[in-house]
Amino acid sequence: MDYISTRGAAPALDFAGATLAGLAGDGGLYLPRHWPRFTEAEIAAMAGLPYAQLAQRVMQPFVGDSLTPQRLLELTTAAYGRFAHAAVTPLIQLDHQHWLLELFHGPTLAFKDVALQLLGLLFEEFLTQRGGNLTIVGATSGDTGSAAIDAVAGRAGIDIFMLHPKGRVSDVQRRQMTTVLAANVHNIALDHASFDDAQAIVKRMFGDRGMIGRFAIGAVNSINWARLMAQVVYYFAAALQLGAPARQVAFAVPTGNFGDVFAGYVAAQMGLPVARLIVATNVNDILHRALGSGDYSAGTVTPTAAPSMDIQVSSNFERLLFDLGGRDGKSMAAQMAGFEASKAMQLSNVQRDGAAKLFTSARADADDMARAIRWAWDGAGELIDPHTAIGLHAARATGIDPAIPVVTLATAHPAKFPEAVERATGHRPSLPARIGDLFEREERCAALPGEYDAVADYIAARAAPR
Ligand SMILES: *Cc1c(COP(=O)(O)O)cnc(C)c1O
Repeated sequence: MDYISTRGAAPALDFAGATLAGLAGDGGLYLPRHWPRFTEAEIAAMAGLPYAQLAQRVMQPFVGDSLTPQRLLELTTAAYGRFAHAAVTPLIQLDHQHWLLELFHGPTLAFKDVALQLLGLLFEEFLTQRGGNLTIVGATSGDTGSAAIDAVAGRAGIDIFMLHPKGRVSDVQRRQMTTVLAANVHNIALDHASFDDAQAIVKRMFGDRGMIGRFAIGAVNSINWARLMAQVVYYFAAALQLGAPARQVAFAVPTGNFGDVFAGYVAAQMGLPVARLIVATNVNDILHRALGSGDYSAGTVTPTAAPSMDIQVSSNFERLLFDLGGRDGKSMAAQMAGFEASKAMQLSNVQRDGAAKLFTSARADADDMARAIRWAWDGAGELIDPHTAIGLHAARATGIDPAIPVVTLATAHPAKFPEAVERATGHRPSLPARIGDLFEREERCAALPGEYDAVADYIAARAAPR
């Protein structure tokens, strides 16, 4: 399978190349040249497979010749063997129509583990095949950083430099990063910086000729195609359990960077009978506005109790607009250049109508979120985190045909955000035993000023050349 850039001006790469590159050289995002499609019989034959085997079946068409089926299965077995639940992503019933898909049973308690545990193994595999070193540079508002660090700690040929805004991530989130003491893990707290400042430093590094000449800089956020690919699998897992391919299923997805819900779009292109994808946002609602009226314009970020969704610019939306707009790289590049200049753009009619066929959206404020947490607790005895609650609010507010099951993706363990859960229910969720000593572990973290040169010098002094 070949991968092409949404902006049409970067060379096509195979799966291994797209995985190691992350962002395309023209500033675009990689997508497979076409969507592989399963027949109904092929999907029916996936029912009942253990998760690691299902993952191999769903991902093999995307991986192509980069890995044999045997090797891919070994990697999925290793990646998902570290999850604390035998089903990997168990499905929980809330009432006659609503279900939760628990994606937080990985090592760092958020859905990011599902993709990053595999991505760490893919990096190691392709580096071994090709030789050389990889320098991962990322910015995090919390969950991506800990999941990426856990996935690559101690792996040969890889260094990871993870930037977080000092004092702006929760104690649990910070400790999940800074207590990993492997020599290839470098945590950097940026003084007087926001998440956007940290992300701007990372983006600038991908375009710094001096740095990319010396170091192979890789990406772990959802601009990396391999992450989205791994997330397609759990849409199949959930729908198969609820009767697909004979029955349609809808999904509600707490959304920030549009990666998770785009994986649902990919599942639908592959033949899974997805009735609706409900994009759930908090008050940072650029996507709700874009899907409702075609107005994609960024405002300022309002901090909420669901920080992983406090985002204004959703990188992966570009992948959807490119696919819906006839896959025209030149016009996508022009549309994005306009957006980058003015922080606003209007969707074309083709893009709007195409999106409306599958996507719906809903927005939740703080009260909606707290009510959804209480509803799940009072009605079904489930404690859910603020991000999941926003998804559940959207699922219930959308008015899906009662004959169609609606699955809300549960993206984080409630113990990652205990204050909001306790405020809504009076119950404080406790950390699972396997990470219960987090607050006794030693921390290691560098503090740097939030300036590009300071960060680049720090990385250049420690990373291994390509
Ligand atoms: C990252 C994250 C999201 C948003 O996912 P996207 O793929 O960026 O849309 C939602 N909830 C939690 C808990 C997250 O960590």
